[in-house]
This record gives sequence, C-alpha cells and structure tokens, in this order.
Amino acid sequence: MSRPLTLALTKGRILKETLPLLARAGIEPLEDVSASRKLVFETTLPGLQLVIIRGTDVPTYVRHGAADLGVVGKDILLEQGADGLYEPLDLNIARCRLMTAGPVGWQRGGARVRVATKFVNVARRHFARQGLHAEVIKLYGAMELAPMMDLADLIVDIVDTGNTLRANGMEPLEEIASISSRLVVNKAAMRAQHGPIQKVVDNIAAAVAAAEAA
Ligand code: AMP
Repeated sequence: MSRPLTLALTKGRILKETLPLLARAGIEPLEDVSASRKLVFETTLPGLQLVIIRGTDVPTYVRHGAADLGVVGKDILLEQGADGLYEPLDLNIARCRLMTAGPVGWQRGGARVRVATKFVNVARRHFARQGLHAEVIKLYGAMELAPMMDLADLIVDIVDTGNTLRANGMEPLEEIASISSRLVVNKAAMRAQHGPIQKVVDNIAAAVAAAEAA
C-alpha cells in the first residue's frame, strides 16, 4: 500500500472557501477543524490527510515533499517563486488583487519611492519594470499605517473591497496581479505517486467546475 497523501491547506479566509470545495470533491475532515486545536486531520477520502498551516508555509511544506499537495494564494506563489511545484489548478476562490496603493491624491516626487509591503520580491519587480528605484521596506502587517507614519510613500498589498484602504485615507493605484487560490503539487511526488495524486487533482477540478456552473 502507498503511504498516505498529505494536502496542506492555508488557514484563515482561504480555508473557509476551501472546505466547501473539498467537500464537493468528496474530501471532508473527520472532525470540525474550526473547533479543534489539532493541525493534522484525517479525511473521508481514505489515504488523504489534511494539515492546516499559514499560507506562507504551504509552498515550503510542498516544495520539500513534507506535503504532497497544497492550497495557497497566488500572491504567495508570486512572492516565493514556484520552484519544485506544479500548479495544476486555479481554484477560483479567495479572489482579490495585488495592488500598489497610496494616500489619496499622492503624487510621485522623483525617481525614488519608498514602498512598505510583505511582498518585497513582487514590489521590487513591479517598480523595476517601471524603471523606478524602490526602497522596499518589509512589514508583516498593517501596511496602511506606513504612509500615515511617513515610513513609506506607497504600499503593495492585497485589496478585496478596498474598504481597508479607504478607512485609512488611501486609494488603490495600479493592479500588479489578479489573485486567487491555487492547488500546487510537489513535482517529485507527482511522478512517484502519479495515480493517487492525479485522482485527487481530478476530483478537485470537477468540484471547481461544478462550483462555477452553480
Ligand atoms: P478589503 O478591505 O476588502 O480591500 O480587504 C483588504 C485586506 O483583507 C487585505 O489587507 C488582506 O489582508 C485581506 N484579504 C482580502 N482578500 C484576501 C484574500 N483573498 N486572501 C488573503 N487576504 C485577503
């Protein structure tokens, strides 16, 4: 018998949208994940277990083969790169945009711009493409605070409704990428366990198609 497959899920907002999709694919945790402090869950699909972790850690688990598959936001894949990963499926959930944003009415002064973000690689690439030298300042949260406190001129962040920006006197400027959650697969596992992994991918693909048709 082959060893169990592990699917790493991103906790939080993405998890809320992932679980109904997995249920449609016949994959349900055997206990209520929101009522448990556990990190590993058996599922209704024999031979498939879930681990529930931070989004930024999902590519690491899958890249190293500690998890065979993962669900993660495209923003994180753009930031970290997708070495060692296949990205077979756009799950079409947790849609949002990765954007630059600035204080309402902000005008660029010179060729230099200070940018606060947790997406430092994405931000550097974006401003380099425009021929601008960005001083990129890494933050772990509350990006909107940085221009207010004159730590940065602009931010690069995820925008959904734009309410967080507006509540802090900011406006969205340029869209860098359209974001949704993706299914990723470890490349070596895809070769070694092709049959069982492809079956999981196909089941989830059918669930995505059914959700889109609904
Ligand atoms: P909003 O005020 O609706 O524009 O939401 C903005 C905040 O919600 C961002 O700063 C993100 O931290 C978070 N957010 C919105 N959509 C997503 C998503 N799909 N994945 C992760 N975080 C999100």
